[in-house]
Amino acid sequence: TCGICVEKCPFDAIEIINLPQELEEEPAHRYGENAFGLYGLPAPKEGRVTGLLGPNGIGKSTAVRMLSGEITPNLGQYDQPPNWEAVLDQYRGTALQNYLEALEAGEVTVARKPQYVDKIPDQFDGATNELLAGVDERGVADELVQRLELEAVYDQPIDTLSGGELQRVALAATLVRDADFYFLDEVTPYLDIGQRVTAARLIRELADEEDRSMMVVEHDLAILDLVADTLHVTYGEPGAFGVVTTPKSTRNGINEYLSGYLENENMRIRPEAIKFEEHAPRTVSGNEDALVSYPALTKSYGDGEFTLEVDAGEIRNNEVLGIVGPNGIGKSTFAKLLAGRLDPTEGEVDFRLDISYKPQYVEVDQPMRVDAFLSSITSDFGSSYWNTEIAQPLQLQRIMEQQLTDLSGGERQRVAIAACLSREADLYLLDEPSAHLDVEQRVMATRAIRRYTENHGKTAMVIDHDIYMIDLLADRLQVFEGTPAEHGHAGAPVGMREGMNTFLSNLDVTFRRDKRTGRPRINKPGSQKDREQKKAGEYYYAP
Ligand code: ADP
Ligand code: ADP
Ligand code: MG
Repeated sequence: TCGICVEKCPFDAIEIINLPQELEEEPAHRYGENAFGLYGLPAPKEGRVTGLLGPNGIGKSTAVRMLSGEITPNLGQYDQPPNWEAVLDQYRGTALQNYLEALEAGEVTVARKPQYVDKIPDQFDGATNELLAGVDERGVADELVQRLELEAVYDQPIDTLSGGELQRVALAATLVRDADFYFLDEVTPYLDIGQRVTAARLIRELADEEDRSMMVVEHDLAILDLVADTLHVTYGEPGAFGVVTTPKSTRNGINEYLSGYLENENMRIRPEAIKFEEHAPRTVSGNEDALVSYPALTKSYGDGEFTLEVDAGEIRNNEVLGIVGPNGIGKSTFAKLLAGRLDPTEGEVDFRLDISYKPQYVEVDQPMRVDAFLSSITSDFGSSYWNTEIAQPLQLQRIMEQQLTDLSGGERQRVAIAACLSREADLYLLDEPSAHLDVEQRVMATRAIRRYTENHGKTAMVIDHDIYMIDLLADRLQVFEGTPAEHGHAGAPVGMREGMNTFLSNLDVTFRRDKRTGRPRINKPGSQKDREQKKAGEYYYAP
């Protein structure tokens, strides 16, 4: 094993070089004897946005909690009381000296958005506006409510909000504080692309216009690329130890991370590179067969509070259909129409697809072990093909004996993807499988979904807001547009280029290709490339 995966390598195992088995220096923090240790710390930069990029379980949240003063670094002395003198000694002469001195002396103020927003309702009893009013030190709550589209939930109790709403409330509640340093531990889960771009702009504005210091942990690479000036990569062995690199330019940091090789550190962190190539359509025979053709449909709820119009289209056998569009635009409604669980208001669905559905919000209330849960879903559980196609790429072996209720967000997501793919169905519908997964896990989940559909002649529809994941995953694209919660329009499934152009022109965002890696990067609005591409109508796959 290469040390990254503990289990057998889910990539086609190549021997990995240079991963330190034992580091000689003392960690910045260790949770206990034989417990996770973090080596090195990222350094927030004044007036800049500093990114933090690395796999799950590698210590990013630990680093953020130390820098925001929530835990005192113990320098590996987990059995001793906190000792700031020793910490300041340790970091004297480093980029962190001034920051840590000021933090210890209470001379800087910090604000932090925690990683898991679903815990907020346990801590706060009241409505959105009350929560924001209590922290609005900069007097900008109204502006942020408007820009983050929170008006509709302004008077709503916090414990009734959806995950995407909570994420935006948590972001607003952090950014309205009057802090010198802001720490944002994963902002994109459950946000649609428009909301992600807005979040990135709000963070950048605080740095550029207000000279605040921002640190951002993020797995959505397009957004990290857009928001960060520099970034630290974290690598190591998840759950065992993590190492934080010195800062890299955002472009180099992301490229090196994807390539699996850190240049300054001379360190291979993954046996193979993650590559972005323009999507070549699959050459599976029968690719052109329709699984279903459906006519134009409409569906209205109540007295037309929300209406969805669907253009006639077809879903092809054995394809992965990417679905993009804002939250609340009718994507789930469309799926329910296909499943015959809802009757259209106009038009007729003369078939009924058996759909295996992974919801956007994975909720767990069963006190059950992972292995018991999965074997209750499929009799293939534990067979060699199930292990190869499902358990391995989704890294389930390590967590089989855990209780569902004890899983982290990323672990729960992987179990939910496995459960969805393991059911017998005509169509697999996965709503935001990337939420809480790190970059490698997104790539491996992508492979699991693609291989499973290819090998078993299955068809999948995947809703996701991570444009990289959609690019890697989808054969064709269906674009939903309109005004969330009022009116939605579902286009027919089209080719990737056409679909991306329709989708991104609505958002007014263009991508260029990184010269070295082919990785798509968001163009600066108004830049030469941005203007040229808009003129040419090439928003994504620009030559
Ligand atoms: P990341 O944010 O990169 O996913 P974390 O910093 O949350 O990683 O966690 C790194 C490792 O430290 C994980 O293995 C996690 O289980 C462990 N860990 C986190 N908090 C504690 C704690 N309070 N006590 C013991 N171990 C912890
Ligand atoms: P998406 O999947 O794109 O997030 P949905 O199809 O779930 O969107 O919902 C679209 C809109 O329809 C939302 O405003 C939602 O609140 C509303 N809606 C969904 N289901 C119902 C229902 N059963 N009754 C009334 N309104 C609904
Ligand atoms: Mg974390």
